[in-house]
Amino acid sequence: MIIEPDIKLDFKDVLIRPKRSTLTTRKEVDLNRKFSFVNAKLEIPYKGHELIPEYSGIPIMASNMDGVGTFDIADALIPHGMFTCLTKIYSEKDLVDFFTSESNKGGRTDYVAMSIGITEEDKNKFNTVYEQAKEKLRYVCIDVANGYTERFCTFIGKFRDAYPNIIIIAGNVCTADQTQELILKGADIIKCGIGPGSVCTTRVKTGVGYPQLSTIIECSDAAHGLGGHIISDGGCTVAGDIAKAFGGGADFVMLGGMLAGHDEGGGEIVDNKVQFYGMSSRTANEKHFGGLRDYRAAEGKTVEIPYRGKIINTVQDILGGLRSACTYSGARRLKDLCKCTTFIRTTVQENKVYS
Ligand code: 5GP
Repeated sequence: MIIEPDIKLDFKDVLIRPKRSTLTTRKEVDLNRKFSFVNAKLEIPYKGHELIPEYSGIPIMASNMDGVGTFDIADALIPHGMFTCLTKIYSEKDLVDFFTSESNKGGRTDYVAMSIGITEEDKNKFNTVYEQAKEKLRYVCIDVANGYTERFCTFIGKFRDAYPNIIIIAGNVCTADQTQELILKGADIIKCGIGPGSVCTTRVKTGVGYPQLSTIIECSDAAHGLGGHIISDGGCTVAGDIAKAFGGGADFVMLGGMLAGHDEGGGEIVDNKVQFYGMSSRTANEKHFGGLRDYRAAEGKTVEIPYRGKIINTVQDILGGLRSACTYSGARRLKDLCKCTTFIRTTVQENKVYS
């Protein structure tokens, strides 16, 4: 047994220190970011760019969860340049229709990922959709609860070989070593976060996890060294947490609970509340697999959250908070927020001495 004595931090353990700035209003702040990806390689130029695929937008993502990663949420986020990872529950036909429809003016191609797991069935499903959607499908999110297994790494490697041009999002992991491993296997963007989710019970059920701000700081450092990118996935409960995630070095921030409870999520509204649940909760398992599979404990819970109307209001709140955070820190662009950020620690982890 080994103990790592370093203090690891969560969003709640820090605040961003305000700094002198020449910005006069938060409107001047540019939240747009441009990335080019390290492993995906195009065969023909896309939008006149080189053969390295590029991304440009506000790098906030809707999580691939029920009530969040829906077609309607994707369409509502596209005008803001925000990204959606679709839930895994959509059928091949629905996915093909979504990506190939006349309504796809390019936004669905640039800001939406199809999500899969790592079974043979998942691989075939992706292949069927890709065969029909072709270059209209650019992103895949391959995620499992535990991104540390050899089987997962092997799957990512084989997927990269089979689809050289697809931008691969892979996760979830929470440490530098495995972030690097997945990039070296061919992933472009690593989804980082084990245990921080609002409806996740991994930490209490298994004792496993990593404080999310330290996950971001350590994984982004590792990824950027190799030309890769990371998503901070889970644990944001307010706009300030998103600012802290970007301040810590996240390239993208993924949200579940903060984007749940809206019209576009499609949930049933009862007494002004909407049900929201983890994707490995009993509720999700019963909905999609006809019951909880007996070999795994439910590491997700089900909660009722207030119904919040149209998502646009929440989006504006989030973007307003983020612009304001940049103004306080003196960052003219979201890109600069990380280098402008000084975190101050606000919680004390005492060393208790028992005598
Ligand atoms: P939130 O933004 O709600 O705090 O976190 C969203 C993230 O929680 C998701 O993107 C996903 O990584 C994670 N998550 C979703 N469902 C479950 C679940 O049932 N169990 C666990 N352990 N994590 C989940």
